[in-house]
Amino acid sequence: MSSSLGLYAHIPFCLRKCAYCDFPSYPGELDRREDYTQALIREIESRGEALGHPPADTLFIGGGTPSLMAPQQMAGILAALRAAFPWQVGMEASCEANPESVTPDFLDALVSGGVNRLSLGAQASQPRLLAAIGREHSWRQVERAVRMARRAGIKNLNLDLMMGLPGQTAAELSDSLDAALALGPEHLSCYSLILEEGTALFDQVEAGKVTLPDEEILLEMDALTRSKLATAGYIHYEVSNYARPGRECRHNLNCWEYADYLGFGAAAAGFYQGRRRKNPAGVAGYLAGQAPEEEAVTPDDARFEQVMLGLRLTKGLEAARFESRQGLTLMGAYGQVIKRHTAEGSLLWEEGRLRLSEAGRLLMNQVLLDFLP
Ligand code: SF4
Repeated sequence: MSSSLGLYAHIPFCLRKCAYCDFPSYPGELDRREDYTQALIREIESRGEALGHPPADTLFIGGGTPSLMAPQQMAGILAALRAAFPWQVGMEASCEANPESVTPDFLDALVSGGVNRLSLGAQASQPRLLAAIGREHSWRQVERAVRMARRAGIKNLNLDLMMGLPGQTAAELSDSLDAALALGPEHLSCYSLILEEGTALFDQVEAGKVTLPDEEILLEMDALTRSKLATAGYIHYEVSNYARPGRECRHNLNCWEYADYLGFGAAAAGFYQGRRRKNPAGVAGYLAGQAPEEEAVTPDDARFEQVMLGLRLTKGLEAARFESRQGLTLMGAYGQVIKRHTAEGSLLWEEGRLRLSEAGRLLMNQVLLDFLP
């Protein structure tokens, strides 16, 4: 079984904080972008050296808002990543961007530096919904960004959409999906809004100022998304992700299949040779050279994590991959739980893989609880 290595680089800057966001992203720190670039490059170089320059298969530059970086800053980061971790033939290199800040120069720097996949945060086509979650862009800017990306030579494009937004109806989600499909993306991520404590939206909901769609509407939205995208020729390959055949995001697939990845930059996490590492979350701490947190993953946790990630995939968890990574079979680790859930119909065995059935997919969290160590 081949092993893959993914790279993740985090760009923590944003223009302002979206109402639902609890990602490590920091408005008001834009003047630190150059210092951050230099620190990120130093981290990439020194860890490449320390690890003996292992080759990489995938890269994901996420944020935050990578498109707030200057083109020459992105060029420097990409050159460092390529020098420290030689890119394998067929490398998938993705970068996130926001529609309001992406420019032709930024895209040219990405493409010249080897990026071949762009992920745009589109979220919804209705101005009312974009305003409700504090997004800065309009749908017109999404369309313009897609045109720019295609002109720059990006042939693999993802659009992020969100469901479960304040007051959002299934009809509005349907319109957003139609607007996204009209742009011909190779990949669509349709995330359910998760209300996180500490966000502005959480406070608004707690104060009764905003209402989120109820469970029934969410189920309708989920069914609508799956049927509309299946009709349009997209494969539903992971809980929230849809792709044209062969255009699944390989970086994320590798993470769900429990392959190793290295994370660089503030708040970036990694999992490499059985150890987890997390860099300091804040820009100041990262620039000051604060030490990362590191720990060995216990065998029980490693088994559970591989099951939890693998069952997110529609095709499920490959039994042989589990055995080669964990040193025991799936039945050896979880025989009783698997027997019970297959008898009840929430889990299925198919072609050497364990996967959630249609009914099990809706009960995923309850099924996973039974696998907890
Ligand atoms: S653009 Fe993304 S990372 Fe930045 S605040 Fe909004 S959701 Fe968070």
